[in-house]
This record gives sequence, structure tokens and C-alpha cells, in this order.
Amino acid sequence: MMDDLQELYQEVILDHNKSPRNYEVLANHNHFAEGDNPLCGDHIDVYLKVEGNTIKDIAFQGKGCAISKASASLMTSELKGRSLTETKELFEKFHKMVTSEIDETPDMDGLGKLAVLSGVKVFPLRIKCASLAWHTMNAALENNKELISTED
Ligand code: ZN
Repeated sequence: MMDDLQELYQEVILDHNKSPRNYEVLANHNHFAEGDNPLCGDHIDVYLKVEGNTIKDIAFQGKGCAISKASASLMTSELKGRSLTETKELFEKFHKMVTSEIDETPDMDGLGKLAVLSGVKVFPLRIKCASLAWHTMNAALENNKELISTED
């Protein structure tokens, strides 16, 4: 059962790596940040178009490993149309999921497809790959113009 689930998760990750969603430079974006994970060589640009309290559009570009790319792709799919409050909640839930203790079952309610990345928590280096897009998105919302590094 658990193996079937892991296999399914693996398939979703490979699919998002091969055909990343929302992979473009977003015209008319009003938020942007650049993130870097030097330990793996992942680099990502996140673009957002925020109107009022809503993420109207979100996209990314970059290069890196399958996990970093799939995570960014899944994140953009999940956040499009969300309110900033929901986005903050998802960010916190996602962060808890990938940093929870190995024998702990995190609360994945409402995470939807993002749950496919729950397996990274057993690979400490991969946690940074999976979190990079989220930290970069968060910095973009805060208009942080500095390069966001997982090593700061
Ligand atoms: Zn990586």
C-alpha cells in the first residue's frame, strides 16, 4: 500500500519535472524573486501577479534537479487563484510536512497534490530542493530583492 503510494508520488514528480506547469516569464508581474540552492545547483525565478488579496497569476523559470522543478511546478499550480492568507497557510503546512520527524505523520489536509513531496523529508538535502520555490515565492511577496539562498 505504502509502496503503491510512493510509486504514484514518484510518477507525479517525474511528470511535473518533464512538463513543468506555468513555466514562463510572467508578463505584467508585480512581484518577483530569485532563489538559489547552491548545495544542489538549483536556481529559480518566481513571478507573481497579485491583485488585492489574490494571486491572479504565478509562474517560474529556472534550472535544477527534478525535485526543485517539480516542487515549483506543483506550487504554482496550487497557488494560482489563492488568497494571500491561504498561501501563507499552505506555505506553513508544506514546510511542516517536509521538515517533520521521519516517524511523524504530518497534517496534510488541504495540501492536495503537494503531498507527493512528503517523501523528501527522509533526504535532508532534498528538503532544500523542495522548499526552494516556496521560500522564493515568499520573498517575492515580501518584495525582497536579494537573492534568496537556502544556505543563509
Ligand atoms: Zn535540487
